[in-house]
Amino acid sequence: MSETKDVATGLNRREFMALAGVAGVGLLAPTLFPFSSAMAADSLDQAPLPYAMGALEPVISARTLEFHYGKHHAAYVGNVKKMLPGSGLEGKSLEEIIKATAAKGGGLFNNAAQSYNHAFYWKCMKPGGGGMPKGKLMEAIMASFGGYDAFRKAFVDASVGQFGSGWGWLAQEGGKLKVVATANADTPLAHGAAPLLVVDVWEHAYYLDYQNRRADYVNAFMDKLVNWDFVAANLK
Ligand code: MN
Repeated sequence: MSETKDVATGLNRREFMALAGVAGVGLLAPTLFPFSSAMAADSLDQAPLPYAMGALEPVISARTLEFHYGKHHAAYVGNVKKMLPGSGLEGKSLEEIIKATAAKGGGLFNNAAQSYNHAFYWKCMKPGGGGMPKGKLMEAIMASFGGYDAFRKAFVDASVGQFGSGWGWLAQEGGKLKVVATANADTPLAHGAAPLLVVDVWEHAYYLDYQNRRADYVNAFMDKLVNWDFVAANLK
């Protein structure tokens, strides 16, 4: 597996985590790895994971993340860079590429959208996350769904019920929150909505850990992994 070197430090993620652990430079992490920024999902480069490979265990194993981040996501990122020359979209942001190619679809759209969706998905999780959101986000969920339980059921049902590969989303459109499921690489960005939260329901996201039990994976994601601070930061 190849790891991206951080520009500022020249360290890969594992090296940085080791250094942070022994040298007490953990407080520098927000500066060196600004993953909390909603904009980072828009980069054409693959940002380092915002946590160590084993940090989401036992909900998602290090082995799953090694393949999912290191092989699947890395391949989508690499494909965008291969397909971009000659497309007329050189120099554009990932979001601009997605919007420009959404209507006709095709390889560049699929790989750009998968690059975006995965970068967004990593940031939707954190060790010790899950449970209920707070503050303005909770108020928006209450206003749009009538309660947290109704939202949770809609999100889990849409994600588990997505036929085949795809994604389960909480998205914002016209001031209202809604739950949508998308197939394959499709993303709310391609349909004028702003993503707030996503769960990857492609089998590669959960098969090593849950085999065919997608519902167990989605429920564990909701109860133990969701980074509600990141979700709240995406509210417009
Ligand atoms: Mn995936």
